[in-house]
Amino acid sequence: MKAVAVFPGKPNSAHLASLDRPDINSVPNGRGVLVRVLRVGVDGTDKEINAAEYGAAPPGYDFLVTGHEGFGVVENVGPNVTEFKPGDYVVATVRRPGNSIYDLIGTNDMTTDDTYFERGINLLHGFLTEFYVDDAEYIVKVPPTLRDIGVLLEPFTVVQKGITQACEAQRRLRVWRPRKAAVMGAGTIGLLAALALKLRGMDVTVFARQPKPSLRSELLGRIDVRYVSTVDTPILEGAKQHGPFDLIFEATGASQVVFESMQAVGKNGALILSSVTGGDKKVEVPADKINLDFVLGNKLLVGTVNANREYFESGVRDMALGQAMYSGWMNELLTHPVEGLDSYPEAFNKLETAREAIKVFYKVASF
Ligand code: BGC
Ligand code: ZN
Repeated sequence: MKAVAVFPGKPNSAHLASLDRPDINSVPNGRGVLVRVLRVGVDGTDKEINAAEYGAAPPGYDFLVTGHEGFGVVENVGPNVTEFKPGDYVVATVRRPGNSIYDLIGTNDMTTDDTYFERGINLLHGFLTEFYVDDAEYIVKVPPTLRDIGVLLEPFTVVQKGITQACEAQRRLRVWRPRKAAVMGAGTIGLLAALALKLRGMDVTVFARQPKPSLRSELLGRIDVRYVSTVDTPILEGAKQHGPFDLIFEATGASQVVFESMQAVGKNGALILSSVTGGDKKVEVPADKINLDFVLGNKLLVGTVNANREYFESGVRDMALGQAMYSGWMNELLTHPVEGLDSYPEAFNKLETAREAIKVFYKVASF
């Protein structure tokens, strides 16, 4: 069976590898699910893995099969699987448990272990292949009506987790009714965050660099989300006009934006940080002022990575609501398809050079 892989530690080593077809009995207790891969999305993480910035091969292999944003169809199930049957559409979660207490209670996304196990990212093969097998515990069903956008579920779970965790933490306020929200960045995560906040009834402003009009500003306009280009209006200026924000979701991938966001979030507000910034950038910031306003305003800062099945399930519900409210909108995010696993050079090329690309994804097999 074909698979798109890299040699971790070796830059630009993307290649086609060969894998044995997985055995459903490799999962204990008859709980295996065999999935035929249909679509796989790629993102900055895949780009950075191919640049050898991180990523590790599973024990016994010198390559890592990439792809963590999967979508597929159940081919076969083990004798003790009651929640799926062949023909069901599914998405698998990314992280598998380690040893910390959080892993033991099913919240691997909150692990405190130094080593984490993520399919397609670290120490476990990913989904850019023809079939995979996993424990039913890590597989989530997607209704057939959402199959065209099912490949967006994994990125959407990052948004779901961030918002849910912020809301949990905001219970400290006894009463919190966020009305004005901002999203920093208009990549896939930024656009999906804008949708999720809009679905929660908020007045949403997205800040991004790209001047308008653009596909992104046009898409946001269609769901009544304001688009502010920071080329015309710096964040703090925009916050004066459209804030103060009760909630900000930061997803630019640029760490300096975090400090501006800290100043744009209002009293009692929450700032969610989701950018994985692997570099070593340094910036000068008005530290006393930021700290003072944060303290005097009782503000909350929460970091978030990965997602457990709870957020995959809420992601499916929000996708269904999103399609009901804004039919066809999420489909428009699927801008750059490539055909088949052999197209990996084209996929990486689009990921690196197509600035207008919202989501690059593989059509591995047809529905
Ligand atoms: C994935 C997450 C993962 C994170 C860190 C992201 O691209 O979507 O599931 O936890 O990278 O590896
Ligand atoms: Zn990702």
